[in-house]
Amino acid sequence: MLAIDVSNLSKDYHDINAVCDVSLKIKEGEFFSLLGVNGAGKTTIIKLMTSLILPTSGDIKIFGMDYRSDKSKIKGLLNISPQETAIAPNLTVLENLEFMAGIYCVPNKNERINELIKLFKLENVLKRKTKNLSGGWQRKLSLAVSLINNPKILFLDEPTLGLDVISRKQLWEILNSLKGKMTIVLTTHYMEEAEYLSDFIGIMHNGKLIKMGSKDDLLKLTHTKKLEDAFVKIVGDDVCE
Ligand code: ATP
Repeated sequence: MLAIDVSNLSKDYHDINAVCDVSLKIKEGEFFSLLGVNGAGKTTIIKLMTSLILPTSGDIKIFGMDYRSDKSKIKGLLNISPQETAIAPNLTVLENLEFMAGIYCVPNKNERINELIKLFKLENVLKRKTKNLSGGWQRKLSLAVSLINNPKILFLDEPTLGLDVISRKQLWEILNSLKGKMTIVLTTHYMEEAEYLSDFIGIMHNGKLIKMGSKDDLLKLTHTKKLEDAFVKIVGDDVCE
């Protein structure tokens, strides 16, 4: 079944075409990564798919439901870990988890919170106010919070930005353990991250989705051995066109 079916999606900000005629299908359970240089349109398309902003034109279907008429049903199936961490700075780690569990009316709330505490190894920071945590711990908590409702589709906008290499790899392991259990859409500038986690990769440039495929498809297409080289070639060729 298709988790996400986007057709001819565009978003303009005055004279800027942030997203330009993008069509994209993502199957249930897939891990899909969006790559692109700064300003390519990745965050905008995630905001569109999560209904945080409305498109200028085009259609978005989530599990076959229309983003306009089935908005409230769709909302319960999604969650997002945005680029800027989505946590309340004056609440403790535990209070953040409890607060979000309340907002999403999570059944068996304590059980779910305990699962996430274990998964993200939050035991030793539970009572700390999040504003006093390091950036890395704030990102971990932001990701944990985005899983509180056990979403069917999880959107991750640069979830490991600025993390040290150990923390980044810990988060990759957590994301890897979620693979297949939910549909995941990730944006990242770390090619290694996309390479390690993705089933499919989309490359955006100037608001357009210019290439899409598995890592192997993209390597074959560009006669390269590393995703980074494939990315540079694909974006470079698009600039030259
Ligand atoms: P980055 O990798 O730097 O996060 P991105 O690929 O996520 O970039 P977007 O944030 O989607 O890119 O931005 C795409 C384009 O839309 C950029 O030119 C950006 O300046 C523009 N843009 C985004 N949001 C707005 C807004 N609210 N008002 C005006 N222009 C915007």
